[in-house]
Amino acid sequence: MSHFDNPEHAEFRRNAQSWLIENLKEFAKNNPGDSLTFDQEIERSKAWQLLKFEAGYAGIFVPKEYGGGGLSFVEEIIFRQEQATLEVPQDFFFIGNALTVPVLLMYAAEDIKEKLIPEILSGRDIWCQLFSEPGAGSDLAGIRTKSVKSGENWTVNGQKIWNTLAHIADRAILVTRSNPDVVKHKGLTFFHCDMKSKGIEARPIVQMSGESEFGEVFLDDVVIPDSYRLGEEGEGWKVAMSTLMYERFDTGEIPGPSLNDFLELVGEIELDGRPAIENDLVKAQIANWYVQSKGIEYTRLRALAALSRGEQPGPEMSIGKLVSAAKMQNMSALAMSLQDAAGLIRDSNISLSAAVFQDAWFNSPGFRIAGGTDEILKNIIAERVLGFPQEERPDKDVPFSQLKS
Ligand SMILES: Cc1cc2nc3c(=O)[nH]c(=O)nc-3n(C[C@H](O)[C@H](O)[C@H](O)COP(=O)(O)OP(=O)(O)OC[C@H]3O[C@@H](n4cnc5c(N)ncnc54)[C@H](O)[C@@H]3O)c2cc1C
Repeated sequence: MSHFDNPEHAEFRRNAQSWLIENLKEFAKNNPGDSLTFDQEIERSKAWQLLKFEAGYAGIFVPKEYGGGGLSFVEEIIFRQEQATLEVPQDFFFIGNALTVPVLLMYAAEDIKEKLIPEILSGRDIWCQLFSEPGAGSDLAGIRTKSVKSGENWTVNGQKIWNTLAHIADRAILVTRSNPDVVKHKGLTFFHCDMKSKGIEARPIVQMSGESEFGEVFLDDVVIPDSYRLGEEGEGWKVAMSTLMYERFDTGEIPGPSLNDFLELVGEIELDGRPAIENDLVKAQIANWYVQSKGIEYTRLRALAALSRGEQPGPEMSIGKLVSAAKMQNMSALAMSLQDAAGLIRDSNISLSAAVFQDAWFNSPGFRIAGGTDEILKNIIAERVLGFPQEERPDKDVPFSQLKS
């Protein structure tokens, strides 16, 4: 329970918490999560998503006519907070639920919302986000994937990369350049599309962890109906920014070991013949991470308060991912080195703490890049939260077609 909930939110939190605890126990009995193949993980994730959907806990902020819970974003965040404290199946619906649904609600036509949103919420469709390109990541407005309109359709050509789950996704949100003759932010158009469309090829990329969670996508004369456009022609930047705002709001909660997991570990292992938790440097790190966790918690509470006043999450939400991704990387590195040679063991059956720190160590560099790198988030905080002068942007007023590549 949070001391900051009003009575209705406190009651919602209690109900959500007991639903999660009860149903997760039952779910784990019927769907054990050990030694699963990638395909089995997906099936398990789909079953968990469907269970939440049937109980009204998928898309809590989504109006009931689209299959949601009909409540506000505050209840949605409360549920996500409670869920983050428990061991839940891997989430393959993050891009659909957290990024696509808010954007569809804001920009899609009624029939599209009625068709697509329930398929996301019920765990039928996995979505991916086709934004980054080989030459445009941080500088998203520099994308080159081209869209050309002819009649009621668009033809899209180009390449995307680092797209999470693209190789298994059913559908995608996609940013394209529809007009190269205006400044780079003005010539973009945003779509959703079917990943099984003719001309789309998605190839998995193998990561250092050995897994393939993202891929690269080639678009070759892909035809997308104009009715799949989200926002006006040339206004794709605005739609993309709404998506990134929701992404940063969500990625504040990085999945991985908590400070309590670290406390348990350093209570168990020894350093110089004494429990590691008694070492001064370890204690200083714990204090540091505790302060950081509290900072993130209060920033999120401020955002929750803004949401309950009907406002949207703002640029200050960049703080959550900036701090927690670095915290996870530093904590997992220290946890592994305190285990000495045993820290190298990544088999969850024999490693201490079921290898949560080893897994986090492999994933944390990616978290410091995905959804905006550390440097980009620092720029956002400096310019848009603290009001520092803007970074020099010499290409700002030059038509895209005249920029040197
Ligand atoms: C795990 C993971 C999942 C991802 N999932 C997706 C996805 O689903 N969909 C998608 O479209 N993309 C995805 N990405 C891509 C991600 O959005 C980009 O990698 C990210 O935006 C950085 O872009 P880039 O790789 O082109 O690096 P670059 O933009 O080339 O950056 C290279 C370096 O330069 C620094 N830099 C760049 N510009 C500035 C600046 N103005 N000031 C200071 N420093 C700067 C960066 O911080 C970085 O250190 C994912 C990436 C990862 C790691």
